[in-house]
Amino acid sequence: MDLNFTPEEDEFRIKVRRFLEENIPKSGLGDGREGREDKAWLARAKEWQRKLYEAGYVAMAWPKEFGGQALEPVRQSIVNDEVVRAKAPYLIGGSGLGMLGPTLISWGTEEQKKRYLPKILTAEEIWCQGYSEPGSGSDLASLRTRAEIVGDEFVVNGQKVWTSGAQYSDMMFCLVRTDPEAPKHRGISYILIDMHSPGLTVRPLVQMTGDRGFNEVFFDNVRVPRKNLVGKLNEGWIVANATLFHERNMLGSASGSEQRFNRLRALAKSIQRNGHPLSEDPVFRQRLADLQIRVEAMRLHAMRQLTDQIRGRQPGIEAMINKLVGTELNHDLATAAMEAMGDDSMLARDEPSVVDKGYWPYEWMFSLGLVIGGGTSHIQKNIIAERGLKMPKSR
Ligand SMILES: Cc1cc2nc3c(=O)[nH]c(=O)nc-3n(C[C@H](O)[C@H](O)[C@H](O)COP(=O)(O)OP(=O)(O)OC[C@H]3O[C@@H](n4cnc5c(N)ncnc54)[C@H](O)[C@@H]3O)c2cc1C
Repeated sequence: MDLNFTPEEDEFRIKVRRFLEENIPKSGLGDGREGREDKAWLARAKEWQRKLYEAGYVAMAWPKEFGGQALEPVRQSIVNDEVVRAKAPYLIGGSGLGMLGPTLISWGTEEQKKRYLPKILTAEEIWCQGYSEPGSGSDLASLRTRAEIVGDEFVVNGQKVWTSGAQYSDMMFCLVRTDPEAPKHRGISYILIDMHSPGLTVRPLVQMTGDRGFNEVFFDNVRVPRKNLVGKLNEGWIVANATLFHERNMLGSASGSEQRFNRLRALAKSIQRNGHPLSEDPVFRQRLADLQIRVEAMRLHAMRQLTDQIRGRQPGIEAMINKLVGTELNHDLATAAMEAMGDDSMLARDEPSVVDKGYWPYEWMFSLGLVIGGGTSHIQKNIIAERGLKMPKSR
């Protein structure tokens, strides 16, 4: 593992930093999670992604023929760090960029790559993930949404749940059961569904943050062209896992945790306890030190993953570690902030005396969701134990 950047990479970082300083939307996108129902917000969010893409800072490692630049992953990692550092709005097309795109690059047909990848980059098409169903979350392979082949189409019936962003998505990458007789992992296929198809209904669900971030999606005889199958028929489980690998990597970001830690430290400096800033309280300092050590461990883990990517080493269980450690750390950072704020942590976002713009109560609730989404911590621990540590399987 080499922790140093080359002079060219440092120069590149400065260029990216300057671009972000000059181009980040000054208002209207908030922290990226508000206004999802609002068409004007959606248009601005898409415009931001397009701008970043046109500047050459999105999916830089993707192949050139599909709109990427085939660059080393280190360049993208620098951009990602700087985007977090600059508190730039998150990218509306994140599911396409972070999950479906890399999956299609490995598993898609040439036609699928040509058709879908460029529009993911420019945010012309937004994607959502249709995996979870009522009763099939951790035990995803038990999913029951059925797709029958009729002529050159799949006819889909069933229901998905917790589908983030379905309310504004154009397309869904979806797991369906195509062989109900086969053992559960072997009768699943991975298909791409147009969200504007007749028979498809999206019903928003309200999270405890008050946002309508995710949805129920119902399929009533939804027709999907057979050419929208990714990988082989009934062998979608392996493709699904490729997507999950990318999702788990996406959910734990070392630079994101570092930013949250810096914000927590600033908060502790601003709060007075017994006539002194809380940051000088020995007990709270100890807690900050403990959290900082975990943030630093995450950073080193990210560097190790980057080194593996550059050297072309096959990834192992690193993504699960990233997801497990990163999402729990983010929630613990928010918990420390909530406790530091005491009663003030109960204030609503629009209260005039709200602390730090109401960031922490929102972050506390949102980060709890990410400990669950993308596979719960228990499931990550099971996978790390079984595949990483080679411990005996529970079933
Ligand atoms: C914010 C958020 C966004 C999401 N977005 C999406 C999305 O866009 N698309 C999508 O398809 N899904 C999405 N999900 C759903 C998510 O993937 C599931 O919530 C998750 O996989 C857990 O499934 P479940 O909710 O059915 O819980 P369950 O599987 O019912 O689990 C309940 C509890 O039992 C534990 N448990 C279950 N099985 C085991 C086991 N074998 N060993 C140990 N413990 C176990 C779990 O850890 C959990 O604590 C999202 C969820 C959240 C919170």
